[in-house]
Amino acid sequence: MSDRFVTTWRLPAACAVALLAAAGVGLLVGATLPVIAAVAVAETVVLLSLFRHKTRPMLQSPATSHPEHDRLMTRTRRIASRLRDLRSAAGTLPDAVVLLDHGLHVRWFNHAAEDLLGLKRPRDRGRSIAELLRNSELAEWLADGGREPLNDVTAPGHPNRHVTATLLPFGSRQRLLLARDTSHLTRLEQIRRDFVANVSHELRTPLTVIHGYLELLDPEDVPELAPVLDEMRAQSKRMGQIVEDLLTLSRLETQDHVAEEHVQMSPLLASLRKEAEALSQGRHTISLDVATPYDLLGSPKDLHSAFSNLVSNAVRYTPTGGRIAIRWAEFEGGARFSVQDSGFGIPAAHIARLTERFYRVSSSRSRDSGGTGLGLSIVKHVLNLHQARLAIESEPGKGSTFACVFGSERLIDGARVQEAAGLHP
Ligand code: ADP
Repeated sequence: MSDRFVTTWRLPAACAVALLAAAGVGLLVGATLPVIAAVAVAETVVLLSLFRHKTRPMLQSPATSHPEHDRLMTRTRRIASRLRDLRSAAGTLPDAVVLLDHGLHVRWFNHAAEDLLGLKRPRDRGRSIAELLRNSELAEWLADGGREPLNDVTAPGHPNRHVTATLLPFGSRQRLLLARDTSHLTRLEQIRRDFVANVSHELRTPLTVIHGYLELLDPEDVPELAPVLDEMRAQSKRMGQIVEDLLTLSRLETQDHVAEEHVQMSPLLASLRKEAEALSQGRHTISLDVATPYDLLGSPKDLHSAFSNLVSNAVRYTPTGGRIAIRWAEFEGGARFSVQDSGFGIPAAHIARLTERFYRVSSSRSRDSGGTGLGLSIVKHVLNLHQARLAIESEPGKGSTFACVFGSERLIDGARVQEAAGLHP
């Protein structure tokens, strides 16, 4: 078999293997179809350039009348034409696809990349992507290594559009930059937020009126309706609480940062303990352990609301006679506020979903204890705004621990601040 023959067949075969490998690997790692298609297409683009380079001299060589040579030429042209089709398919993908070499220089990109990322052909081939996307969030993300997908950032080529970007390793130290236009999702999300905020706001006034009139009614005037009146009051209070929680969530969702105030932990923890005792009405043993003098930097109102939600849950989901321990302690690299209870506990399958709105392990238990199903959602949003996280450990029948974990950048040495202000001897 001649060298030419081997070269001619090795490349198309490699293309086919590459396409199958991309699809196989993609499916194994659970990648979405467009990602698999983009990787396959990128591999094809690389192979096509290699294929052209290798076969051009052969196609240009003077023709011979040998029938095997003629057959070979026909097949080679057919494969070249299929690869060109694939390349032009890649060019029309709606997602931006940019092929980068190991130094993050642009090797190839499609039409969507011109539109969404503002790249220009042929000017930008070979140039550094960091330079081309200069001053954009995408450039910062690439400089950080782009390990996690970047959601909802302004498209460098279109200030009114949003993209979600992914950086995939590919071939030998090459990278594939994918950017998908998610403007419609951002718009839908905004419509959803506005709708929830508007509905909650509109419900607030009529509910206040109903609640006010119910308070005015005296059950002694109509003793036979006393239980009905009690139920109406309880339900209108619950509706009022749901509306307030929805408004809190809407506010937290639209914020991208919090007040950077000095939050004194000592009085905050003391008031949380009092709240727990008032809610428990002597049914539980409640303890407070303050193991660190650190205070927090953040929003006093929002942090109080988050911690108070955890304390109230511990009381509501712990049967009479149980224990509740509130703790504030430091660890290397931060501090954690935790509430441990000896209550019902939560089966493992539910834990990942607890911070979703209205997600409840048991709806009846939540309603009976006056829950809105929004408490942990509020906790999650408050913690996100403080770059903190919620850690949940639980065992059914034994109890749960909900902990708010803060990084050291959020800690203030409270004792020192007070000393400096002359509040301590
Ligand atoms: P709810 O108002 O229903 O309590 P949350 O968002 O605060 O809403 O909590 C969501 C669900 O998580 C609750 O309905 C409950 O099933 C579960 N949960 C929360 N805290 C605890 C806890 N300390 N012990 C057991 N289950 C809990």
